[in-house]
Amino acid sequence: MNEARLAADLERYQQKALDLATQAVIVKAEDIPVDERVPLKCQIPRCFGYGVSAHCPPHTLKPGDLKEVLKKYHCAVFFIMEVPPEVIVRDNATIKERVAAYQQVFRMVSELESMAFYDGHYLAFGFAAGSCRHTFCGQKESCQALEGKRCRFALLARPSMEAVGIDVYKMVARAGWDIYPIGSNAKPEDQPKGTLAGIVIVQ
Ligand code: SF4
Repeated sequence: MNEARLAADLERYQQKALDLATQAVIVKAEDIPVDERVPLKCQIPRCFGYGVSAHCPPHTLKPGDLKEVLKKYHCAVFFIMEVPPEVIVRDNATIKERVAAYQQVFRMVSELESMAFYDGHYLAFGFAAGSCRHTFCGQKESCQALEGKRCRFALLARPSMEAVGIDVYKMVARAGWDIYPIGSNAKPEDQPKGTLAGIVIVQ
């Protein structure tokens, strides 16, 4: 694969991401910040998703392993989707909108990864936002993959960026975009916006 072809492909993936995303950028793999402290935040205080899906900590890829893997890659497409803050704040009244927004990110990551694969970047892989357990299997008793059976959404489900240790806040800030931390006690009226992010490591 020559450099001109790779550059053209990356630009196409960036444009495709913008079908959904508010912002999208091509980044170097070496500039993806991976930090062991990020999934620590899944555990302390304990997230309701911790341990309940095959794609969430402690079952998923560890930051140390991701750091090693990224040494073999060169470039990625990173995007964010801005949503109204009330969609992100955990409130039963907006659960449908929340699930729909997270599903959009998973679908876009899957689509970009698939494009890259069929363009010959066959080792491309991506991460989405949030837990697949709540995004796809919220109405189910359990994660089927954790029981040794086939994931119900094998091609769509994947770890979130944060689950594997990517410091999304840092990435967004480095790209020059705004992001605001929305925790469990956040009130939508205090937040300028909500942000969901996804990434596909291409080559
Ligand atoms: S079965 Fe559901 S919860 Fe388990 S990995 Fe697949 S999508 Fe995620």
